[in-house]
Amino acid sequence: MRLILLGPPGCGKGTQSQRLTEKYGIPQLSTGDMLRAAVKAQTPVGQKAGGLMARGELVPDDVVVAIVAERIEQPDAKNGFILDGFPRTVPQAEALDRMLADKGMKLDAAIELKVDEGILHQRIAKRVADMQARGDTIRADDNPEALEKRVHAYRLQTAPLVSYYSNNGLLRSTDGMASIDEVSGAIDRILGKARQASAAASRQRKSAKVSVRARKARAGKAAKARKTGSKAKAATRKRPAKAAARRAPGRRKATAKTRRKRINKAGRRG
Ligand code: AMP
Repeated sequence: MRLILLGPPGCGKGTQSQRLTEKYGIPQLSTGDMLRAAVKAQTPVGQKAGGLMARGELVPDDVVVAIVAERIEQPDAKNGFILDGFPRTVPQAEALDRMLADKGMKLDAAIELKVDEGILHQRIAKRVADMQARGDTIRADDNPEALEKRVHAYRLQTAPLVSYYSNNGLLRSTDGMASIDEVSGAIDRILGKARQASAAASRQRKSAKVSVRARKARAGKAAKARKTGSKAKAATRKRPAKAAARRAPGRRKATAKTRRKRINKAGRRG
């Protein structure tokens, strides 16, 4: 199963992705986590991304696309993945489509978690409090100023993906304001339906293939029958001449003169 979780920062994508990972045994591919790891390790990508992330701005498309392209090649992503935080722009979505098409793969669904923007600040504040309580390092962009920019970037650059996935029939939306368990339940139902639809589509594809094969076989049989039939006809047409040759070996076909002679002879007899 290949899924995208869509929604603004703090909508619950990370929490739901983790649950889906446990449930379906497929990895959560969070571009945010990958970039944070790159920043921590001070890789060239991390050096490029660090400042942008801290300010709540998006990292350039080519950088993120390259990271995702490499990640989905890993063996653990062979049977599916949950993309959390990617794509975030229409060019990223187009790049993902190309990447998957090259591998003969496709997405099963893009699930949008719909939330009121007003709640995002409260949710991020709760995340910060939880992280502090656990003694985790607080994210550089989990502060009111950066959050404002992240929400702005979502509205401007990511929200158009709702139309993008609605247009290609993959969008499924659910109420992200509900409790974590309720949202998980809604996602389960969405995925159940998506799996049924994809099973039905694959059955349809199979039966279409079978009927094409059957049609070809019928056409082949008919062509063969036509061929045999015309041979048989040709044989039937030839038969009288052959039969005549068998019937009168050495006897020539009567000429007009001999025919006249025979008629006269018969007349005399009669
Ligand atoms: P997240 O953990 O998904 O909230 O992402 C944290 C930050 O990482 C974002 O605010 C961006 O700066 C950067 N980032 C993550 N994913 C992407 C992406 N797909 N495109 C551009 N920037 C991204």
